[in-house]
Amino acid sequence: MCAMTNIRINASTGYDVLVGSGALERAPGFIRYALPRVNKVAVVTDSNVDALHSSAVVSHLAAAGLSPVKFTFPAGEKSKNLVTYASLIDFLAGNRLDRTDIVLALGGGVAGDMAGFAAATYKRGIDFIQMPTTLLAMVDSSVGGKTGVDIAAGKNLVGAFHQPRAVFCDLRFLYTLPDEWRMDGMGEVLKYAVLRDQGLFGRLESAPLAPIGESEIAACIGMKRDIVEADEKESGVRKLLNLGHTFAHAVEKLSGFGISHGRAVATGIAMASRAAVKCGTLSGEDCARIESLVSTMGYDSHVQFAASDIADAMLGDKKVEGDSIDLVLPHGIGCCAVSRTPLAEIGKVVADAI
Ligand code: MG
Repeated sequence: MCAMTNIRINASTGYDVLVGSGALERAPGFIRYALPRVNKVAVVTDSNVDALHSSAVVSHLAAAGLSPVKFTFPAGEKSKNLVTYASLIDFLAGNRLDRTDIVLALGGGVAGDMAGFAAATYKRGIDFIQMPTTLLAMVDSSVGGKTGVDIAAGKNLVGAFHQPRAVFCDLRFLYTLPDEWRMDGMGEVLKYAVLRDQGLFGRLESAPLAPIGESEIAACIGMKRDIVEADEKESGVRKLLNLGHTFAHAVEKLSGFGISHGRAVATGIAMASRAAVKCGTLSGEDCARIESLVSTMGYDSHVQFAASDIADAMLGDKKVEGDSIDLVLPHGIGCCAVSRTPLAEIGKVVADAI
């Protein structure tokens, strides 16, 4: 078997993240030996991934003596809602999954968030496994135990913390990833570089358009592990993972979600950097390096939206707590800190950031 990177996450329930080509084939054996009471495996996937990868996953599970059943939903963030969630729960009940059975999320962030939330709540919680197929899900959303769905009032407003039993990142899935989706994931990779990895930042500067591989993906997951282990439920240091995100959520919303999450995050990092220069936490040279990398990687460093519209959208963010919001500001490349910002100052911050 091929060598792979194994990253142990010591959350409230510990689990391994396996990264490499061939991780898919490791999943059935893991279920058989680590979770020997499992019989049924509910594979939850979207219509795009279903056409590409689900038959391989289902046949490997069946070959290991497990009983896979498959739930497919229409691809896209629009499916991540309470209606799809309810039909997934009905599917689990209709297939008589019991509390020793398992859900396997096969796909990007939408599949992972929704399948994880179904697993967190069905029969008051059953186990689940993440098998991310997008770069964004591999480096970010599949690790850390956040699950949930969107409602009309906003993204991820209904959800639960529920840690997976294992995460299988098979790099071969990335071969079929459309370029736009790769760009989506690279926005989060850039986030990790600015957050705490000067080496990764330098690697991106030297080859901004080159595909990343096992070691870079594992490095991002390792950073997420360090942060999640220190603060599983986001009361402190985990907020750092929101670098660029409060600006990004406003940009996504104002674009009618036409700008993807990772693209918006890259732009949000440039915005946070400019705001940090005005706050005196970041040097002009480091800000210029960040803005330049955002551009050379193919993202917009500036937004076209009006500052007042961005500020309004930020005031509706779910990260608002009372009369302030925590923004993450770079203090250097590879070093960031949370900055509690009164809502009354958001307009000025945005004016500095655009
Ligand atoms: Mg994100």
